Amino acid sequence: MTTIDTARLVTMFAAIANSMSADRDRLCALDGVIGDADHGIAMELGFFAARDAVAGLDTAATDPTTLLNTAAKSFLNAVGASSGPLYATALMRAAAAVKGKTALDDADVVALFQAMAKGIQDRGKAELGEKTMIDAWAPAGQAAGEALASGKDLAASLKAAAQAAETGAEATKAMVATKGRASRLGERSLGHMDPGAASAVTVIEAMRTALTD
Ligand code: ADP
Ligand code: MG
Repeated sequence: MTTIDTARLVTMFAAIANSMSADRDRLCALDGVIGDADHGIAMELGFFAARDAVAGLDTAATDPTTLLNTAAKSFLNAVGASSGPLYATALMRAAAAVKGKTALDDADVVALFQAMAKGIQDRGKAELGEKTMIDAWAPAGQAAGEALASGKDLAASLKAAAQAAETGAEATKAMVATKGRASRLGERSLGHMDPGAASAVTVIEAMRTALTD
């Protein structure tokens, strides 16, 4: 069984920031088609800010909840786009999900992960099929929970989550946007992957590798 402590979460934020940087231009290009072309910049800014804020913490004296709340606050302050409050809420819910723990076991990490998905859904009020990041996050959260419940370890559970996110993001191509900026396009949003769903796949894959590889 893996045990994830505060120091490991610091490296997780560094890994997500790296992945966002590598993916920035693709995400901006996707957002350029159905939005305002800033999604890659927003996600990079947000996770750079989160990475830098948590890197400044004394990990020995900081619990995972405090670290995740620090990341949430810095993400929110750094990002003006709609992904700002959505990921800030995800991270605040993650913080609440592991309150009182100093080291996280497999079930704690899956709870943290599912709380992120639920937080984004509560904050943005998007349903499945509305062509948003929820089309990646919701099935990912569900897949992780089901995998863990069926006896899988964290690595297999996050692998299932990453696969579900990818399938969900791919499926947004066939959806018409009804939430967010892309909803202004109506039918013209058809045929293009939602940028927020695309970045969700990248975030989730970075979390998976940082926490289980
Ligand atoms: P903005 O649209 O303000 O420029 P971003 O470009 O950072 O913000 O993010 C766009 C993404 O945000 C969309 O691709 C979509 O996935 C996601 N999004 C927008 N509104 C919502 C919502 N209500 N719930 C969930 N996700 C949303
Ligand atoms: Mg945008």
